[in-house]
Amino acid sequence: MADVKKLGVIGAGLMGNGIAHVAALSGVPVVLVDINQAALDKALATIGKNLDRQESKGSIPAGAKGEALGRIAAGTDYKLFAECDLVIEAATENEEIKKKIFGTLCPQLKPEAVLASNTSSIPITRLGAATDRPGRFVGMHFFNPVPMMKLVEVIRGLATEDATVATVTTLAERMGKTVVAAADYPAFVVNRILCPMLNEAIFALMEGVGDVRAIDAGMKLGANHPMGPLELSDFVGLDTLYSVLKVLHEGLGDPKYRPCPLLAKYVEAGWLGRKSGKGFYDYSTNPPTPTR
Ligand code: NAD
Repeated sequence: MADVKKLGVIGAGLMGNGIAHVAALSGVPVVLVDINQAALDKALATIGKNLDRQESKGSIPAGAKGEALGRIAAGTDYKLFAECDLVIEAATENEEIKKKIFGTLCPQLKPEAVLASNTSSIPITRLGAATDRPGRFVGMHFFNPVPMMKLVEVIRGLATEDATVATVTTLAERMGKTVVAAADYPAFVVNRILCPMLNEAIFALMEGVGDVRAIDAGMKLGANHPMGPLELSDFVGLDTLYSVLKVLHEGLGDPKYRPCPLLAKYVEAGWLGRKSGKGFYDYSTNPPTPTR
């Protein structure tokens, strides 16, 4: 098992900036790379802002912000990864883009370096097979927002070696996360269970079993969920939910995973939830009002 003395992160979007933030805060030097300089500038600004919030709430000690930011080096050149013991890929969820990244990245890495992907839905075995190191390739699935969410799913591909799993587990724990092991099946553990539940709530809405308020209040008060399933679907993004359900449906071939036609309709309308301002709720009002 390799101790991670330097971490690389590819992709400085929503997930990449969160991973860099938490790793740096836990004392690990981080190299953050994106093809887009504007994404890097935005990521560093977001990390600074989120560290400020943590410092003002007292959840991190005074001075921790400066130390953490001092541990992050950002740039657009993959050569920056030359000394990394582990690189976590958190780039756009597109198989061709990820494979292209690995093709350019692998020649820059130390031969013993471990490569992890934060993909939500692409099979780890297939991604690993596209690299020069399937034994040192693993899934490391963080949750959004990374600084808040305690879980990391570690997904073993068919060829992944024990030492690789040990390396990423040790790093995740150092970052204050709890690891659960997931096998390389569509959507892994959490989304495999969560997304069909959200889909079922949308079927219940379509069939008129309950309206938006009844379904959300019902699951909050009757099942003790912190958010109702329709509210949570809007938070996740209806396009993202639709794509995970398609991965489950196609990957497992069981009709129980078919995406609800009403979900498809919302996506076709461009009503993608919070990020587009409208989904099962309209976010232009405070509090948001159901759209149906
Ligand atoms: P995002 O769109 O916010 O960020 C992706 C970043 O990748 C962008 O900044 C983009 O410029 C960069 N990128 C694209 N091609 C690149 C390349 N060739 N080299 C370097 N950088 C490149 O996406 P995100 O939401 O942060 O998701 C990233 C990954 O994390 C995806 O695989 C996604 O499935 C996974 N994930 C997302 C969530 C979530 O809730 N958003 C949760 C868990 C896992």
